[in-house]
This record gives sequence, structure tokens and C-alpha cells, in this order.
Amino acid sequence: MLKIYNSLSRKVEEFIPLNPPKVGVYTCGPTVYDFQHIGNFRTMIFSDILLRTLMANNFDVKSVRNITDIDDKIIKAAKEKNLGIEEFSSEFTTAFFNDLGKLNILPVDVSPKATEHVTKMVKYIEVLIKKGLAYIEDDGSVYFDISKFPNYGKLSGLEKRQLKTGTRILSDEYSKEDVQDFALWKSISPSEVGYDSPWGRGRPGWHIECSVMSQEYLGETLDIHAGGIDLLFPHHENEIAQSEGYTGKPFANFFVHGEHLLVEGAKMSKSLKNFYKLSDLEDKGFEPLSYRYLVLTAHYRDKLNFTWESLQAAQNALNNLREIVRGWDEPKIGCAEFEQRFMQAINNDLNTPTALAVMWEMIKSDYPASAKAASILKMDKVLGLKFDGYVGKQIEIPDNVKKLVDQRENVRESGDFELSDKLRKEIKGLGYELEDTSKGPRIKKLIT
Ligand code: AMP
Ligand code: ZN
Repeated sequence: MLKIYNSLSRKVEEFIPLNPPKVGVYTCGPTVYDFQHIGNFRTMIFSDILLRTLMANNFDVKSVRNITDIDDKIIKAAKEKNLGIEEFSSEFTTAFFNDLGKLNILPVDVSPKATEHVTKMVKYIEVLIKKGLAYIEDDGSVYFDISKFPNYGKLSGLEKRQLKTGTRILSDEYSKEDVQDFALWKSISPSEVGYDSPWGRGRPGWHIECSVMSQEYLGETLDIHAGGIDLLFPHHENEIAQSEGYTGKPFANFFVHGEHLLVEGAKMSKSLKNFYKLSDLEDKGFEPLSYRYLVLTAHYRDKLNFTWESLQAAQNALNNLREIVRGWDEPKIGCAEFEQRFMQAINNDLNTPTALAVMWEMIKSDYPASAKAASILKMDKVLGLKFDGYVGKQIEIPDNVKKLVDQRENVRESGDFELSDKLRKEIKGLGYELEDTSKGPRIKKLIT
């Protein structure tokens, strides 16, 4: 049984989809005005683990993650560079997909772009106006009237008295205090990037994008809506108001939020300039997968403080694991006991730290290597650490090392242990270690 924490009920609940085995999951994607930082990718890894867990539970998953390719920040930055918005943002969209690949985040089924759904957004807003849930201002902007939606605040638990009805927020930027009517459509001057609408030229607000694109591909009610915790209010609250106002049905049965990546106690963010890109990690010699491992060592609902030491520890753990699994035989029937415990951990609100601990316990257990090999490959379907490239696969040994190993074998057989030791040290100096086994010497790459 899969249990997930639902931000709507503030409880861990059993996950049951609307139409089993089908499951529809929507994750809020990036705003492509710059490169994504590893904080953003923590949320993407969390969403990937959620999708992989659903698949491991034999659900038939349809996943959607949008690309916000139009908003105030994109328009401002593109203008500064004298570029069209598509020309400007495509570099960041491409980089985003590249980085997802490096982190072994599985491709989603649909990656809709906001700019390609503007006509649908206009139609959606027209319905909200007709239903009396939205109003048009003199300047041609359209706002959602939160006083007309009685359930406003149900996700974030806002007290009604905090609502400043009748006051409005136009910007895509927001603060927790902005509990007020929000823009569905923003009127703009003719020189700005925009689209025609019944209310004049303008562009859609950020929240309407996600309501329209999620329902377009997943239907009126989503099984799960995921995103970073900072999106809970107002973004997801506003998505609920728009979507439930539009359909009269529940928008999502589960809202699942991932906690932040911190640096020295503060949220990693562009505005604080305390962020690292994935390429910054690579420039320091770390593999992107070491970051994925690091993220898995924390529960998704706990904050994770990023340090270079913890990343080094994750890289070492990954290197060690690879060396261990190389020594294993062909996968055969797995260790049922550990596989079961692993799934129990992951099905308990995606508890990856416990799942990793179970995996290590299995590695150290007395089960035959072939059984461990089979089990780790199964576990890796959820973890996504790419062990399939290592299990039972010997490393490529350079010719000069091979020669020294052969030479040492001969010397050892002849009983010259002093020279044999010297050769072993020479091999070590080249980054390889020898282990004498009953089947002959085994060569391991030294982990630095
Ligand atoms: P953005 O590009 O700012 O719209 O963010 C894309 C996603 O990354 C959203 O789901 C955010 O909640 C998430 N995010 C932003 N900063 C962090 C952080 N420091 N840790 C985890 N997730 C984050
Ligand atoms: Zn969204």
C-alpha cells in the first residue's frame, strides 16, 4: 500500500487514484528566464522519485510538467538582451532538459509550454468571467475575485479574516501577505510582448497557465499535483480557485510538496545569489548523480542543507557502491526480504533515506552476490542511480596496469614477495588496487 502526505488534509494518506490503474500527475516546471539551480533540481528529483514509485506499484502513470516560457521576468530579461522571448528562453529550456538527463530524471509524457496554450487560457478566463468568478478592470486586466470562491484558502489554511478581498495583485512576484485577487490576464502596452484577447492586448497570469495545461492533458481532476513547497501559496491555492471555480469538481486529490534545498540555512534561490548550477558541481569534478544520491539521503519533506562535504560523501558512497556491484555475478533471483523492506520504506511517503539504508543492509548481508545483484537492479528502478551500468561489469584496465599485474603474478608465484610488494605499490600509484582471490588477482579502481 502506497501512502503519501497530502498537503490538502495535512496527513499521510493511502494513495488511491480516481481510475486505477491510471494515475495522472502534474508537476510545476521551471520558469525559463535563467539556468535552473540545484535547488530547483531537488524538486525535480523528488517528483521523479514520486513517478518511479507509482510505476514500481504498477500504476499506469501519465506525467505532465509544464514549461513557463512567458512571465514578467522572461520578458524583462529578453528585452535587456534585445532578443525575442523564444530566442531568449530556448537556451534555458534546452539546458533544463540536458540537466534532467544528467540527473537520470525520466522524461515526462507531456511538457507543455505556456506560450502554446494562450488561446485555451483566454477561453478559460471567459468562462470564469461568465460564472461571476472574475472581473474586468478598466485597463483591460482580468482578476479572479477570491471573495466569490468560498473555499479559497483550503490548501494553505488561511483564515478568512486575513483575506484582503477587493485588493489586487498584478505581478507574478508575490509574498505570503498577498492574500488578494490575482491577475488572470494582464493588460499591456502595445509595444510589449502579448496576445490579443476580448479585453485587449495582454498576457496570461502565471497561475492560469497551470490550471489550463494540467486539465488539458490530465482531465478535470488530477490524481496528484506536485511542486516545491514555496508554490503551495499562492500558486497552488490560486490554481484550485480557478480550476474548481471552472469545473465545480475537485482539482487534485493529492497535493504533494517537496521541501527546499538550503545553503547555510537559507533557501537556495536566484534572488539571494546563493545558488549553484549543476555545471558548477561538474566543474569541481562531481558527477550529477552524486547530487541525486545526496538528495535521496534526505526525506523530501525535510529541508536539506547543501555543503560540498556532504556532496563529496555522496560521491564517495556512489563510487563505493559501483565498486562493490562490479564484483557481483549475473543477477539471479533476488533477496525477497530486502526488496519487500525497500518497497515498504519507499511506499511510506517516499522514505528514501530508509530505502537507502535497507539497500546498504542488503549489500552487507550474507545473501549470494547474484541475488543481491538482482535486488539492487530492482531497487534502482526507483532510486535511478544507474547501477545497471556497473553490476557484474569489470572495469577497463589500462594496458600499462595490466602488464604490471601480470608481472606481479609471475614474481609472486616465484616467491619474490619483496618485488611483488613493490609492484603492488607501483600499481597503486597508478590508481588501482589488487586483491588476491582464489580465482586470481582482482583489480579495483581506487576511489579518490
Ligand atoms: P522556478 O523556476 O522558480 O519557477 O522553480 C521551479 C521549481 O523549483 C518550483 O517547483 C520551485 O518550488 C522549486 N524550487 C525553487 N527553489 C528551490 C529550492 N531552493 N529547493 C527546492 N526547490 C526549489
Ligand atoms: Zn504551476
